[in-house]
Amino acid sequence: MSQRIKIKALLQSTQTDVEVTVKGWVRTFRNNQFIALNDGSTNNNLQIVVDFQNTDEALLKRITTGAAISVTGMLVASLGKGQTVEVKATTVEILGDSDPEKYPLQPKKHSLEFLREIAHLRFRTQTFGAIFRVRNSLAFAVHQFFQNQGFVYLHTPVITASDAEGAGEAFKVTNLDLNNLPRTENGEIDYKQDFFGKATNLTVSGQLEGELGAMALSDIYTFGPTFRAENSNTTRHLAEFWMIEPEMAFYDLVDNMDLAEGLLKYVINYALEHNREDLEFLAQRLQEEEKSKPQNERSEMTLIEKLEFCLNNDFERLTYTEAIEVLKNSTPNKKKKFQYPIEGWGADLQSEHERYLVEKHFKKPVILTDYPKEIKAFYMRQNDDNKTVRAMDILFPGIGEIVGGSQREERLDRLEQRMDEMGIPKEELWWYLDTRRFGACPHSGFGLGFERLVLFVTGMGNIRDVIPFPRFPKNAEF
Ligand code: ATP
Ligand code: MN
Repeated sequence: MSQRIKIKALLQSTQTDVEVTVKGWVRTFRNNQFIALNDGSTNNNLQIVVDFQNTDEALLKRITTGAAISVTGMLVASLGKGQTVEVKATTVEILGDSDPEKYPLQPKKHSLEFLREIAHLRFRTQTFGAIFRVRNSLAFAVHQFFQNQGFVYLHTPVITASDAEGAGEAFKVTNLDLNNLPRTENGEIDYKQDFFGKATNLTVSGQLEGELGAMALSDIYTFGPTFRAENSNTTRHLAEFWMIEPEMAFYDLVDNMDLAEGLLKYVINYALEHNREDLEFLAQRLQEEEKSKPQNERSEMTLIEKLEFCLNNDFERLTYTEAIEVLKNSTPNKKKKFQYPIEGWGADLQSEHERYLVEKHFKKPVILTDYPKEIKAFYMRQNDDNKTVRAMDILFPGIGEIVGGSQREERLDRLEQRMDEMGIPKEELWWYLDTRRFGACPHSGFGLGFERLVLFVTGMGNIRDVIPFPRFPKNAEF
């Protein structure tokens, strides 16, 4: 038997009248004659023509949607529309039957909500095949971008004893018997008896450890799972997500912004170059979906145009203070259309404000800098005005915050003072403070939420649809 060829390669082949073997899953079987076969290598199906008059009836019956089959036959030029080549089957072998009465994926349109309930099978749809191939490319491109510039991929711990930023709620990690917890004399849980001899949790960010690496290797990045037990049931939050966190010695905030903007453009461009068909399919899907929306809520650009627009324009850079002015004077604010009206300086921006700036006012990605210190983490470098810190958030259309970063406070006295003000225990972070004691230098970094990036590039609306197995409140199936 000839060697198996993937369908993507086969559809691109120019050589016909050769024998080929393909394996995959049946998408549809029409007129007892035409199989649409897919093996996940491309969104396009391969047409297999079965000589039904000379094929056993019992075998034909087993060619059902979802069945795994192996086909050997001649690759020939196709007469039909929609494909240039097809395979004239000489043998069809059923590798795995799929009972059409019970198979949950019928050859019709299913809602994304329904597909989330059968996430173990949704990979077999065109939409999810496209999403996960794009996700794969983006992950690869992230590594390529950093590796090309000599960054070191650093694996920071998944289990930590510090709730890095006090940002999100952390998930506890323990092997204590929950039905029989050891107690101290004061009646508190005695973590000394726990596995690590202290309370531990799943990481909410690898940044603090990442900084330690940067203070020797110069440029590092992490790319790993991150956990936050935040009970926010939004379309942009997961309880388990992947984050990319570069940390760079000798970078100031402008260098930091340049790197982040460069990274985003690089990976988007990579997807456009390597996943054109998948993106065109997803663009089409989005257009269909938007037809059910009122005209004024539909996007002005197609998905591809949006991605290209992002590549071809500098991100708008302005300070938080300037952004507050824009928002205060904006029409929705004056007409009291914001759920959270902008009253003055100091408030944290809500997603509706971020999206106004990006989608309505500037109409392009925006980088906001120099936020009030009260709404940012303790490690951000303090400005001389004593009010703001060298933070930067990147805001994207349809998403809001996609990147959060800053220049880090490298001055020991300023850092300790801020930790005291914010009630962050210095003793526990002795190792972090050591980097400020021995060879401290200006440095910067940021965190890019990988799923928010995938959300933007695929044009999907819910973050639960761009990670294979989403974890969110009350859901850890599969
Ligand atoms: P948000 O305000 O949207 O909750 P954040 O301020 O908590 O974000 P950071 O702590 O700065 O976010 O984390 C860095 C990046 O990680 C964010 O810019 C975002 O892209 C991503 N991110 C944060 N929380 C989540 C989450 N729960 N699910 C998916 N991605 C997230
Ligand atoms: Mn958050």
